[in-house]
Amino acid sequence: MDFTDKTVVVTGSARGIGRSIAESFAALNANVVICDLDQQQVEAVAAEIGARAVGFKADVTSVADLEQLFEKVVEKFGRVDVLVNNAGITRDTLMIRMNEKDWDTVLDINLKGSFLATKLAAKIMMKQRSGRIISISSVVGLTGNAGQANYAASKAGLIGFTKSAAKELAARGITVNAVAPGFIQTEMTEAMPDAAKEAFLVQVPLKRPGTPQDVASAVLFFASDAASYVTGQVLAVDGGLTMQ
Ligand code: NAP
Repeated sequence: MDFTDKTVVVTGSARGIGRSIAESFAALNANVVICDLDQQQVEAVAAEIGARAVGFKADVTSVADLEQLFEKVVEKFGRVDVLVNNAGITRDTLMIRMNEKDWDTVLDINLKGSFLATKLAAKIMMKQRSGRIISISSVVGLTGNAGQANYAASKAGLIGFTKSAAKELAARGITVNAVAPGFIQTEMTEAMPDAAKEAFLVQVPLKRPGTPQDVASAVLFFASDAASYVTGQVLAVDGGLTMQ
């Protein structure tokens, strides 16, 4: 794979899976835009990744931030070839105890944030008559999970959104797909109690947690020429957890 002259925007890419995705694209010669909540942090990560990376602060819940982000990207690189909707959070608790704020915050970042970023990127990609949009959902969006009603709803919503956008944008040469990771070792899962991690891993046929690189590989595939006839799909990267 080679992404020379392609411009890739990855939301929530200062750490974890998003950072790994950004590093993977940069290693294959793409221009990479690191986008996250803190300006100093995105600049530092971009500097570590190398000359083709830039860091622009953007909160995906802010239309103003996202408008500025895409303006700056077009000013610097002239185009947007790939958007990866990766920014996401959890606020876990049993549904019966879940407050409205924890519901709204998770839905705003994970689902609405992806809609807002996709809408702005799609406007640019429609003019180009080409583009790839890849959202990071979760296996929990396919199966549900006790203690994650807000998160599972946001990730299931992302799948419906992906398929709808894929149908709307196909005629303009834009593909829209989603990756559904299972248990991936990042700071997000580090916060889980050991017993919960063990209980999850015992159900994974491949008997190991995934790595951010495992997820990045699936994203690279969707963004590559090899996937030019693939749209509206959800690829589980979960060690076999959700196989049917
Ligand atoms: P992570 O380590 O917590 O990283 C998430 C990143 O998103 C952080 O840098 C965070 O910034 C940023 N972010 C949070 N809110 C944002 C906002 N409003 N605007 C822009 N950036 C924002 O998480 P991860 O494990 O890498 O997960 C990445 C994605 O994969 C998420 O969508 C997650 O739901 C999904 N996923 C993860 C797993 C897993 O096992 N880890 C499994 C399935 C799906 P701060 O550091 O400033 O908060």
